[in-house]
Order: sequence, then structure tokens, then C-alpha cells
Amino acid sequence: MAHRYDDSNIFARILRGEIPNRTVHESEHSLAFEDIQPQAPVHVLVIPKGAYVGLDHFLAAASEAEQLDFNRTVAEVIRLKDLGDGFRAISNARAHGLQEVPHYHLHILGGRSLGRMLA
Ligand code: C5P
Repeated sequence: MAHRYDDSNIFARILRGEIPNRTVHESEHSLAFEDIQPQAPVHVLVIPKGAYVGLDHFLAAASEAEQLDFNRTVAEVIRLKDLGDGFRAISNARAHGLQEVPHYHLHILGGRSLGRMLA
């Protein structure tokens, strides 16, 4: 499918430095920051710096360097936030996934038992 990226979204504005964020880790191609409405004691969003709408767009179009950098950033968040007891990684996509911000982001949640969640 065609993925049309709208660079007026809030995470694009964060990446342009127009809106502040609480950065957890930054790398060449990725940024990890605290979610402003945390759903758990740890709630970090990892985003690529490139213009990707969602997970499937990122997987289809991002370079290997960007994907490796993203994965390393996720690993770094897990390490920095001391998530050895476990965590949950979620990506919402488009209407059925109730995605609010149309710039790919992975939620990393942890710091407590998260309960069963399949939908
Ligand atoms: O996956 P979804 O698009 O629904 O999630 C968007 C997330 O971005 C929400 O958890 C919201 O709290 C977060 N957000 C943020 N900073 C903003 C705007 C939204 O952390 N300025």
C-alpha cells in the first residue's frame, strides 16, 4: 500500500525541535523519549528520525542502517530503564490499531505487571 507521510504530525515537530521532549536516548537515526501520558511506570516511545507512517512502512522502506539503529535504540531503552523483569512493546497502526500520531513509534511499557492484553 502507499504510505503518505504528513510532516505536520507532533513527532515530526519534536524531531525538528519545535516541541520539547524528555529524551531517554538519541542516536543517528532514532529517538527515544518519555510518553507524556504514561500508562505504566516506564512508558517510552522509540521513533525513527526518518519519515515513516507506521511499522509496516518502516519495515518496507527504511534502510538496514536505520532498522539496525532502531533495534539498538530499543535495546538501549530496555537496558537504561532496567526492564529485566519484563516489558511490553506495542505499535498501533492506522484506524484499526487506533494510531493517533502518524509517525512510526514503538511503545515500551514496563515497571509493573501489565496484565493480559490481546486486544
Ligand atoms: O500509538 P498512538 O499513536 O495511539 O500513541 C501516541 C502516543 O503519543 C500516546 O501514548 C501519547 O501520550 C503520546 N504523545 C506524546 N507526546 C506528545 C503527543 C503524544 O508522548 N506530544
